[in-house]
Amino acid sequence: MYAQVIVDIVHENVAHTFSYRVPEGMTLAPGWRVAVPFGRRRVEGIVLSLSETCDLPPERIKPVAETLEDYPAVLPALLELALSMAEETHAPLAETLRLMLPAQMRGGRVRVKTETAARLAVKPAEAEKAAEAQGRSRKRAMLLTLLADGETHPVSELSQLVRDPLMPLRQLQEAGLVLLFEREVLRRPGGAVHRAEDPPLTDDQREALECMTPPMLRGEGRFLLHGVTGSGKTEVFIRLVRRCLEAGKGAIILVPEIALTPQMVDWFRGRFGPVAAVLHSRLSPGERFDEWRRIRRGDARVVIGARSAIFAPLENPGVIIVDEEHETTYLSDRHPRYDARDIAARRCAAEGAALVLASATPSILSFARARKGSLRLVELPRRVFDRPLPAVELVDMRRELDGGNRSIFSGALQRGLRECMAQGEQAMLLMNHRGYNSFVSCRACGQAVKCPECDVSMTYHMAGGDLLHCHYCGRVMPPPQTCPSCGSPHIRYFGAGTQKVEEELHRLLPGTATVRMDIDTTSGKDGHAKLLDEFRSGRARVLVGTQMIAKGHDFPNVTLVGVVAADMTLNLPDYRARERTFQLLTQVAGRAGRGEKPGRVIIQTYKPEDETILAAARQDYRAFFAQEFERRRASFYPPFSVITRLLAESASPDAARRRAEELAERVRALLSEHPDWQKRVLTLLTDQPSVKYLRGRARWHVVVKLAASPEAERLCAALTDLARTDAPEGVDTYFEYNPVTMM
Ligand code: ADP
Ligand code: ZN
Ligand code: ZN
Repeated sequence: MYAQVIVDIVHENVAHTFSYRVPEGMTLAPGWRVAVPFGRRRVEGIVLSLSETCDLPPERIKPVAETLEDYPAVLPALLELALSMAEETHAPLAETLRLMLPAQMRGGRVRVKTETAARLAVKPAEAEKAAEAQGRSRKRAMLLTLLADGETHPVSELSQLVRDPLMPLRQLQEAGLVLLFEREVLRRPGGAVHRAEDPPLTDDQREALECMTPPMLRGEGRFLLHGVTGSGKTEVFIRLVRRCLEAGKGAIILVPEIALTPQMVDWFRGRFGPVAAVLHSRLSPGERFDEWRRIRRGDARVVIGARSAIFAPLENPGVIIVDEEHETTYLSDRHPRYDARDIAARRCAAEGAALVLASATPSILSFARARKGSLRLVELPRRVFDRPLPAVELVDMRRELDGGNRSIFSGALQRGLRECMAQGEQAMLLMNHRGYNSFVSCRACGQAVKCPECDVSMTYHMAGGDLLHCHYCGRVMPPPQTCPSCGSPHIRYFGAGTQKVEEELHRLLPGTATVRMDIDTTSGKDGHAKLLDEFRSGRARVLVGTQMIAKGHDFPNVTLVGVVAADMTLNLPDYRARERTFQLLTQVAGRAGRGEKPGRVIIQTYKPEDETILAAARQDYRAFFAQEFERRRASFYPPFSVITRLLAESASPDAARRRAEELAERVRALLSEHPDWQKRVLTLLTDQPSVKYLRGRARWHVVVKLAASPEAERLCAALTDLARTDAPEGVDTYFEYNPVTMM
C-alpha cells in the first residue's frame, strides 16, 4: 500500500502530494496525521488517499515513519472541505488543512495531560479488613479506607487528605491491594455551570420552531432568523439543538466573540452540561486541544465558538447556527481567507444539516438572499412577553452648543442619567473611541481634523505638548485655530474617548461606580469577564464602552442607553458605514428595557435628519434595508458588485508603485485573455490608497470592481494567484476581497 501525503509546509514547491510506502501492520486511512521523512528532515503530514500502486520505482519510495494519533485527525467531510477551499481560493492545501486542526496539535507542542490515580485491586470488604491489619501505618490504613468506596481517585485528591500518599500507595500496590496507574485528564475551561430548566416558549418562538424543526430533522433548510432585540432568539437555538441531540445529531453555534458573549456559553452549558464544548482563542493551549478532542471523540456534541469553530471536528451535525450573523468578525482576514457563514452553508449542504443565520440587524447581503428566496426568512417580530422595544430620542447636538452646553452630555442625557440612578437602575453609554480626548473636531460642523497626508482623523496627545499625531504616517502638528472645513472657531473642542466619558460621568454623578470596557481595559485573559461581572452583579451602575458593549448582552436592570456620538461610524471611509451605524445603534438600543422595566435610549447626533439614524431610532430594519439596498444598486456596491484590491507595500515608494503598475499590467493581460471576465469589470485603477504610508511603508493599490457574477469569482481566484507570484524582494503584496476598509 502507498499513502499520498500532503506535508505541513506552505511553499509553492511542495504544494502537491508525496507518496510513501505504508509499512506492514500500520493502520492508515485518509485524514490520518503521519510523520514522514522529507529530504533530511522529518515532517508532519496528512494522508489524502491510499493506493495499491505507485508510479515511482520502489527503491525511491520511503516508508511512513509513524502515525501521530490512533485516529484520523481530519474527518472525511473536513478533508473534502479543505480540498475544495484550496481549489477555489487557490490557497495551498497545507494551509487550508491547518484550519482543521488546533494549532497546538501541530509540531507536538501540547502533550496529552495525565495524572496518577489509584483504585483498589481487591474487593472493598477485603480492603477494610486489610486497613485494620496495617498496624502502625495510619497513612496506609487511611488510604485503604478512602479507596474502599470502590472508585478511582487521583493521587492529587488523596494528597489533600493524607500527606505524601505516594510512598504508602506504592507499598499497598506491592502488597497487591491497590492499583496505581496513569490516566488521561482533559483540561476544561473553568467557570461555574448553572443548571437550568427549559422555560415554556412564547407563541412566536413556538411558531419559529414549528417552521424550522421539520426541515432540520430531514437534514435540510437554510434560514435567516430575524428577531428584534430581546425576542428570545437564544431559546430558539437551544430548542433546535435539543431536537438535534434527540435525533442523534450534533450542533455548532457560532458567536462573534466568545469573550463578549459569556452569557451564551453559560446558557448552553447550563442546559446541556458537559455535552457542550467551547472553542475560542482565549482558552489555554491545553484547554483548547482537550476541548477539540472531546468533540472529535464524540463526548461533546454541541460546539459553541468563534469563527474558527466552524471547522470543529463534529460528526453528523444537525444544525449550524450563526448568531449575530451581520458581524464582520466572521470574515477571516488572514490567509486562507474565508467567510465562516459561507463555510457553514457548505458544511450544512455537504453533511445534511440545517443552516440558521440569526440577527436583529441582518447583513444587507443575507437579507437580500432571503428576499430572493435562497434563505427562508423566519421572524420574531416582538420581544418576549410583549415587552416594548425601548423608546428612542434623538438629540441634536448642534442645538446643545447653540444653547451654551459644552459638555459631551446633552441636557436630556444628563437628566436621564440622574433619573436612572435615582431609580436604582443601570445605564450603558456607548462611545466609539477609546482613550482620552482622541480627536479634535469642530463643534459647529462635526468634522474631525484629518491628516493632510492620510485622510484619516488625527489623534490628540496631551503628553508632549498638545499636538495632533497621525497614527498612520507619523505626522505631528498643532491643532488648527479654526475649522478647516467651515471656518468655525469652535475647533478647540476635543472629541472624546471612553476615558473622557467616564471622567465627565464622575463629575456629573459623583460617587457612582462605573466600569469602562474598551481594548485598553480588557486585555487580560479574563478581562472581559471581570468587567461584565462587575456590572451584572450591580456593583457598578454605569457601563461605558466602545462597540464591544453593544453585542448580545442581556442585563435586565439596564433601563437607559446613551449613545454619546452617533455620527462617528457614519463618517468612516467605507461603503458599509451606514450598515455599521444602523447595526450598532439598533443593537446598543436593544440593550435597554430587557427586563420588566421599560427602556429608554438617547442618541446624540449632529445629523438628526440623516435617514440611517432615523431608521435606527425607529428600530425599523426594513426601512433601513430598503434605503440601503437602493443606494448599493445606484452606486454598484455589493451585493451588486465585488470589490477587490491588490495592495503592494514596501519601504521604497518606487518599488511599491512599480509593483502596483506591474500587477495592473498583468490584470489587463488576464482580461484580454478572458473577454467574458473583461465584460464584468466596472473599475480598474492603480492609485495610492488614502493612507499612503502605513507604519513607514509606502502603499499602492490596484482596485478592481466587478459586477457580481460567476466570472467575477473566477477572476478573483486568478487575482489571488497574482498576489502570490513574483513579488520582488522587499515588497509585500496582498489580495483583498471586499476589504473592510479601502484606506
Ligand atoms: P435576543 O438574543 O433575541 O436579543 P435573548 O435570547 O437574549 O434575546 O432573550 C431575551 C431575554 O428573554 C433573556 O433574558 C431570556 O432569558 C428571556 N427569554 C427568552 N425566551 C424566554 C421564554 N420563553 N420564557 C422566559 N424568558 C425568556
Ligand atoms: Zn498621516
Ligand atoms: Zn467646522
